Amino acid sequence: MDPFEQLIAENDRYVREGRHRELGVRPSRQIAVVTCMDARIDSFAAYGLQLGECHVIRNAGGRVTDDVLRSLTLSTHALGVRAILVATHTNCGVRDPDGSMTQRLEQLLGHPALPRDWGTFADPADAVRADCEVLRSWPDRPEGLVVGGYVFDVTDGRLDQVVAPFEAPAP
Ligand SMILES: [Zn+2]
Repeated sequence: MDPFEQLIAENDRYVREGRHRELGVRPSRQIAVVTCMDARIDSFAAYGLQLGECHVIRNAGGRVTDDVLRSLTLSTHALGVRAILVATHTNCGVRDPDGSMTQRLEQLLGHPALPRDWGTFADPADAVRADCEVLRSWPDRPEGLVVGGYVFDVTDGRLDQVVAPFEAPAP
């Protein structure tokens, strides 16, 4: 049983039908989207983006972690990105209002979890506000970087503004 069999077959069809286009490595809209890995979010469809136009950087929660900053360093300095849209979302699996995430995970794991920051939050708006603040004072931010914070509603696909786009002060 190969869980990827259908995916590989679809890839073959994708190539045979010539649906892939060769594109430049630099995102043409100079935008990066940081969002959750949640399977209900299609950033390209939801924001009218096309392949080649932006970076979509995803993790559990859509949090601006150290690894996201690693990607954004390359995105901005090496690949021309000038604006970062950060979007948490409603009904996120990382939402943890009672602080029980480690305990719940340890029940699933059956052994102690490695000590980690799970990126949990009680309110997705608070989380995106905090992450926009991280980007405001990110030491490696490029000059003229614009940041905005939003919450994506997984029930109707609407993006609600939480942090109006601002230009981070020059580092
Ligand atoms: Zn999520």
